[in-house]
Amino acid sequence: MANITCTIDGQRVSVPEGTTILNAAKQVGVKIPTLCYLEHVGLRHVKHEVGECRVCVVEVEGKKDFVTSCNTPVEENMIIHTHTPKIIAARKLNLEMMLSDHHLDCPTCPKNGICELQKLCAELNVRQIRPQGEKKELPIDDSSPSIIRDPNKCILCQRCITACRVLQTVDALELYGNGYDAVVRPKGGLPLIETQCVACGQCALVCPTGAILEKDDTGTVWKALADPKKHVVVQTAPSTHVTIGEAFGLPVGTDITGKMVAALKRLGFNAVFDTNWSADLTIMEEGYELIHRIKNGGVLPQFTSCSPGWIKFCEEFYPDLLPHISSCKSPQQMFGPIAKTYYAEKKGINPEDIFVVSIMPCTAKKYEAARPEMNAAATYWNNPNITRDVDVVLTSRELIRMIREAGIDFANLPDEPYDPLMGEGTGAAQIFGATGGVMEAALRTAYEVITGKTLPKLDFEDVRGMKEIKEASVNMNGLTVKVLVAHSLGAARQLLDKVRAGELKDYHFIEIMACPGGCIGGGGQPIPTTVEERENRIKGIYERDKKLKIRKSHENPEIQAIYKEFLKEPLGHKSHQLLHTHYTPRGKSN
Ligand code: SF4
Ligand code: SF4
Ligand code: SF4
Repeated sequence: MANITCTIDGQRVSVPEGTTILNAAKQVGVKIPTLCYLEHVGLRHVKHEVGECRVCVVEVEGKKDFVTSCNTPVEENMIIHTHTPKIIAARKLNLEMMLSDHHLDCPTCPKNGICELQKLCAELNVRQIRPQGEKKELPIDDSSPSIIRDPNKCILCQRCITACRVLQTVDALELYGNGYDAVVRPKGGLPLIETQCVACGQCALVCPTGAILEKDDTGTVWKALADPKKHVVVQTAPSTHVTIGEAFGLPVGTDITGKMVAALKRLGFNAVFDTNWSADLTIMEEGYELIHRIKNGGVLPQFTSCSPGWIKFCEEFYPDLLPHISSCKSPQQMFGPIAKTYYAEKKGINPEDIFVVSIMPCTAKKYEAARPEMNAAATYWNNPNITRDVDVVLTSRELIRMIREAGIDFANLPDEPYDPLMGEGTGAAQIFGATGGVMEAALRTAYEVITGKTLPKLDFEDVRGMKEIKEASVNMNGLTVKVLVAHSLGAARQLLDKVRAGELKDYHFIEIMACPGGCIGGGGQPIPTTVEERENRIKGIYERDKKLKIRKSHENPEIQAIYKEFLKEPLGHKSHQLLHTHYTPRGKSN
């Protein structure tokens, strides 16, 4: 590709043909402000350059009008100016126009402090709003248990549409109408819950304002914690171990597990447990299910079932492939009924009084916990007063807010251990937080169960990293087990089309995670969640795996204990009752 040479603010720069002015400017250390622009949604091919907000305008000598730098490629010998008084005034005016019909209730806005619009106004020294427009009064959409939309705060940047349409290929959102009447809304103007939205929250991660966010359930948890009749237990998802610290100034990817436990104890939870424990349980059930399918001619390839956004995606768009999905519940949903049966029995607590909270990376987990079939403890006890296995799901961002509300000095907390019984997790469980992790954890156990030999090398590097689709094969007593891994629903769609066409018949196991990078890039994680953050969080996940003494799920002593004392065996009667589920074909393609 030919190189183009141009001048930016007096500096000569040579860049490959097709480079935008914005990116060429970066190369000479010039930062042009942007708002609607989004370089990476999570995977490198997803580009969003709509040039809608016009905050990144620059002056090009010889051109009458300013040009938007995010989507204008440099030309040979272009002379570009990025911060003349006229440009600065134009940028400010563009921001003021945006603010003129914006509901400016920053102090009470959930995006306060992490809002890109707010931050840019501060950076560009916007001190007044000259144009005074009519403020829209559009209804707030809280139909989804996961996501809340306030269209009055939308600046029409369309980042959410790109995340939903290009990255996830769900296409639940659209730009509707023109000019002042233009809105970004769920397809067909329906409430979000009535669309094919899978609740993944990738739209919330990229929204620069408070227009799309997770549903806030912190109030319900505060109430439960204050209720002396309730025994409130909490579980923390593997990925949260390396993400919560970001909000408290710690480097991205720092292992804050011990501090998170300490914070949860200070918040008043009666018992602090780890979803890593039930991730190990998942591997036992899912690994044995895979072995059973291979030995008995079951439906293959088997798909993983931990990611609820992915489950809903399959139910909506590929209902014919549902028999491929493992019947195992996700680690979150295995934890819930076990807390209300095994733990309740062991501790002599009335299961009606046990209130289960999850700390999750994921907005779709709120949807998953609310699914009507997720009430196995009620069936077990034949007690209709138990309504849900997991009572409340909080995203990483909500826990961060609770820690702040309680005035806890998180960064300086001492490390504290999880409580026993459901608190021990292995390295295999820890890597559930990163794309490829569930697969690697399953292989660590399946290999040893099938061959009866010790794995010579625990690390399956082929399934690690941010490549969209990864592949590996392992010889197990003469059988070559072939596996695939996909993260983001756009990548999943590529694989599912092949499965549907019968092209992947010789594969045994496919891991699918709805979010780019896996759970570390979940829709409920700290903002920003860029490619760089995702990569550093993944590094933190594997470092923690290396540090842990036990790195295989079947070697977890607390997992061995629950099989001995309660479940008896993987895929047994109690396991089926409490740990397995079914799926519901839905959506247009059904
Ligand atoms: S979206 Fe941003 S600018 Fe708008 S009210 Fe919320 S914090 Fe303020
Ligand atoms: S939650 Fe996911 S599927 Fe739903 S609108 Fe947002 S990006 Fe699309
Ligand atoms: S909802 Fe957020 S991401 Fe979507 S267009 Fe509006 S401001 Fe942009």
